[in-house]
Amino acid sequence: MEIKNCKRCGKMYSYIAGIPICDQCKQKDEDDFQTVKKYIYEHKGVSLKEVSEACEVSVEKITRFLRDGRLEIKEGTNIILECESCGRPINSGRLCQECSKKLERDLSKASNTAANSNTLKEKNEEEGKAKGGGMRYLKS
Ligand SMILES: [Zn+2]
Ligand SMILES: [Zn+2]
Repeated sequence: MEIKNCKRCGKMYSYIAGIPICDQCKQKDEDDFQTVKKYIYEHKGVSLKEVSEACEVSVEKITRFLRDGRLEIKEGTNIILECESCGRPINSGRLCQECSKKLERDLSKASNTAANSNTLKEKNEEEGKAKGGGMRYLKS
């Protein structure tokens, strides 16, 4: 066991494992999480801001719950996260499906620049269109 300062409130506490915040802050987070979850469940169609105000939990914290994937937004709710890449509304996580796929493809492309599969060609064409130029050579 080790003594640490809580990242949240600065209090000294006995750190065991996980996120470096004290038991009280952890408990507070858990309470907030349950409150938010319950509120969203009972009030379909609320916005992030409304939940934040009604539950007295900051938008940042609710967003963190969502980003952590702890809280998932069911269809019919207005709470939205934005894809960190394109800004499109998403239900949970950080990226929309397309962007996470794109990221995956970019990664495989980066690690395999010489590859010339059909998938890569298609991708490059898509990108060429999106950027309004570049990579045109693929079409000529
Ligand atoms: Zn604390
Ligand atoms: Zn996206």
